[in-house]
Amino acid sequence: MKTIAVLTSGGDSPAMNAAIRAVVRIANDKGLRVLGVHRGYNGLINGEVEEMDRSSVSDIIHRGGTILRTARSEEFKTPQGREKALNVIKVLKIDGVVVIGGDGSFRGAQLLSELGVPTVGIPGTIDNDLAYTDYTVGFDTALNTALDAINKIRDTSSSHERVSVIEVMGRNCGDLALFAGIAGGAENVIVPEKEFSFEDICRGIFEGKRRGKLHNIIILAEGVGGAHKLVKKIEEVTGIESRATVLGYIQRGGIPSAFDRILASRLGAKAVEVLIEGKSSRVVGTKNGEIIDMDITEALSIEKKFNEKLYEISIALSH
Ligand code: ADP
Repeated sequence: MKTIAVLTSGGDSPAMNAAIRAVVRIANDKGLRVLGVHRGYNGLINGEVEEMDRSSVSDIIHRGGTILRTARSEEFKTPQGREKALNVIKVLKIDGVVVIGGDGSFRGAQLLSELGVPTVGIPGTIDNDLAYTDYTVGFDTALNTALDAINKIRDTSSSHERVSVIEVMGRNCGDLALFAGIAGGAENVIVPEKEFSFEDICRGIFEGKRRGKLHNIIILAEGVGGAHKLVKKIEEVTGIESRATVLGYIQRGGIPSAFDRILASRLGAKAVEVLIEGKSSRVVGTKNGEIIDMDITEALSIEKKFNEKLYEISIALSH
């Protein structure tokens, strides 16, 4: 292993930069050359690379986004596109690739490794939807961004005695909604993993009103969606003024939290070590506080389990 490439792919997430920084610096420390690939798999197909050293990653640990930029590459999904990438990898004498991204990017990494290229994935997504790891890089920051918004909306909801429906991201995974709901003291959390009863929500709103609650906060996961429709229905049934806020892309950007920076640094270091050990087709992650690596195919085959216990706690604390 002499030269490794690093790329960011798919949706960006906070602390991807911290992961790039760790990969570059740890690899350099261990005597490896690092090529940064621009725009995800597209850059691999088109040979858009830059040589990186310690100073190329100065001053980025605190920045959201990704200095390598990211993209979705339809071409890489085709065998011809992947052949092109393989040729570039051979021409540039790349011995291993680190892919920072979500499950889609990992499927790409899996196929790349099947072509004989040692590949390691670092989970970079705010969705926390990869079952093999307890946390993905960016989730904690997105959670704190959502929480900050909830705190602010709570103030104005109290002043106006309103119901607030706040839609958070997470695609088909309810983690961001559930964690934000608990941390934000929400009255209800609606996630794709659980059936919800509109009547129960309305009953809860009436009950809260009777007990003198000034507001009612409902956290709605993107995977369920329909915040605007929901508030309309709530207003119709309860007669209480209700507002919807869809937080959207503010959750994808911003200054990464300490937790995400540390996780990204540990995972970046592990990814380089895994390549140096001669392993291929791996992903790195965290389990019970430890940093782990696992076969990509195995990791992608694990079904994400919803945290039932946490959901029960959210219900018990909400009224
Ligand atoms: P994320 O990694 O955030 O889940 P996507 O699902 O959009 O984002 O995937 C990012 C990129 O990974 C895609 O644009 C494509 O280049 C590559 N990719 C995704 N799925 C596959 C697949 N099944 N085969 C090959 N490449 C894939």
